[in-house]
Amino acid sequence: TKERLHRAEKLAFAGQLAASVAHEIRNPLTTVKGLIQLSRSNGRSVPHHDLIVSEMERMNMIIGELLLLGKPQAVQFKEERCYGILLEVLEVFCIQAKMNGIEISSVLLQEEAIRCERNQIKQMFFNLLRNAMEALPYGGKIDVELAVEDGHQRIRISDNGVGMEEEVLVRLGEPFHTTKPDGNGLGLLVVRNIVSAHRGRIDIASRPGIGTTVNVYLPICY
Ligand code: ADP
Ligand code: MG
Repeated sequence: TKERLHRAEKLAFAGQLAASVAHEIRNPLTTVKGLIQLSRSNGRSVPHHDLIVSEMERMNMIIGELLLLGKPQAVQFKEERCYGILLEVLEVFCIQAKMNGIEISSVLLQEEAIRCERNQIKQMFFNLLRNAMEALPYGGKIDVELAVEDGHQRIRISDNGVGMEEEVLVRLGEPFHTTKPDGNGLGLLVVRNIVSAHRGRIDIASRPGIGTTVNVYLPICY
């Protein structure tokens, strides 16, 4: 547990550092964006304009995720049930999943209220589902199951996608570690931070070519 505490402190520190760097980068980025827009509106042609804009969009997305890692912004923990939150996220996801030949099932076995920040739980579902979907480039299945176990709401998200090799598994949670050409390796870090802010825990099991199962346990309220 001492080891774990140390890890949690390091993560919190990394999160704050990342967020303050992101904040500092956002300002010059906004300036550059403004200058490019200005040149354009003055009728000047900007070489590689579209590429510059799309790469800046990418930077903006990364900065957004980094900011999420920092000190939680005015978080309000409320007693809520997860299933409703999950359904809201799935509504957005299902369209894209269908287009990619992915079938998503959600099963509510049991649920209890947890003390949570709704937006963070949404973000957690979103990041985990996105990883599951990205693990299924040729389609497949994603199963989400909610159950209660030992005083915790258990959220299980499994996919029958590409899975992970041992060397990827051991590096999970390392910032910027990604195996995707367009990945940023921040999604799981954000998830871990959210889970620890809720005093929960997460475990991830995976086998290459078979799939991945993520279990999140969040303490229920009494
Ligand atoms: P990103 O998705 O941007 O790469 P994440 O932190 O979300 O960053 O994930 C880190 C890495 O963990 C991914 O690049 C991928 O290799 C692996 N990973 C995460 N979830 C899954 C999954 N469901 N199936 C297979 N690999 C996964
Ligand atoms: Mg991801």
